[in-house]
Amino acid sequence: MADAPKAVVLPPGSTVGILGGGQLGRMLAIAAARLGLRTHVYEPGAAPAGDVAAQLTTASYDDLDALGAFARSVDVVTYEFENVPARALDAIEGVVPVRPGRRALAVSQDRLDEKRFVSGLGIAVADHAAVGSREELDAAIARIGPGILKTRRLGYDGKGQARVRGPEDADAAFAAMQGAPAIYEAWVAFEREVSVIAARGLDGAVVAYDPGENVHRDGILRTTTVTGAAGRGIRADAALIAGRLLNALDYVGVIGVELFVAGGRLLVNEFAPRVHNSGHWTIEACVVDQFQQHVRAVAGWPLGDGARHSDAVMENLIGDEADRWREIAAGGGGLHLYGKAETRPGRKMGHVTRLSPKT
Ligand code: AMP
Repeated sequence: MADAPKAVVLPPGSTVGILGGGQLGRMLAIAAARLGLRTHVYEPGAAPAGDVAAQLTTASYDDLDALGAFARSVDVVTYEFENVPARALDAIEGVVPVRPGRRALAVSQDRLDEKRFVSGLGIAVADHAAVGSREELDAAIARIGPGILKTRRLGYDGKGQARVRGPEDADAAFAAMQGAPAIYEAWVAFEREVSVIAARGLDGAVVAYDPGENVHRDGILRTTTVTGAAGRGIRADAALIAGRLLNALDYVGVIGVELFVAGGRLLVNEFAPRVHNSGHWTIEACVVDQFQQHVRAVAGWPLGDGARHSDAVMENLIGDEADRWREIAAGGGGLHLYGKAETRPGRKMGHVTRLSPKT
């Protein structure tokens, strides 16, 4: 008799494989442990998640033998970052399910595909154009006006981006792409940046968290604030946008959708097919946080209650800001340190979430 297929609903004691061993993988592993699930982390470099997982594989994403052995040792595979190479997925997918699925990953890996996909669902995005040559950039600037040029692939935390105020910036912006295919987006004079974290279960159920207001500095998230005021007028629309994306992608797991509020309207900037930095506040302010919600979804469990019981401000601790851990620990908020061995400028070392009564 052939081996029984891996169960759709993974009982406690099953193992969740996690590609990527950074802070998101670490918090996923902690959440899984709370539910009696084991985790196996796969990470080529230093792995803060390895400290809290049952098993750690240190190998590259090109190592097909290591990927195969990893896949055979787990019951489902998920990931903490969206740039998982396609070949690595090929090696895993024949052995165990990968959740969220390939479509979400492929679409989110390319900013142009992402914009086309989102706008194809009737959801507003910034006006944009594909830029593969200097001529296309000039044409895009002439048509769209001031904007921002971004590499289509492998950009994060504001990297691979160049502001264009007018044609005089075209040379520098084009050079900054270093020959990589790019997308030119209209500059959005947004009133605020918000994000919505939502989840879809294997049964198709959708849960959306309240939207949070995000403040970035140097392209890196500094704070997320979740209050009644932050969500006013946009809560239902943000949840509907997330729900439409989740359904269209036949998604299983947590998604993070970044939005601009401009002229009272919501425009999708981008989505991440994973747990998201702007959802860390849910650990303190919700009964079931984004990490547990993601683990529940990929393990085929029912989703949990995502309602918020408090207002919350999440502050990232970047670079040497985490050196203040003693003072922050004394300050009453929920402190998280990621266990990273080396402090570097711009590196996310931890975060702290402070609660106040719900508004
Ligand atoms: P991204 O990597 O696309 O998330 O961009 C990083 C940050 O740059 C965003 O959080 C915004 O603050 C800013 N940004 C990106 N795209 C635009 C745009 N089209 N208009 C205005 N600001 C933008």
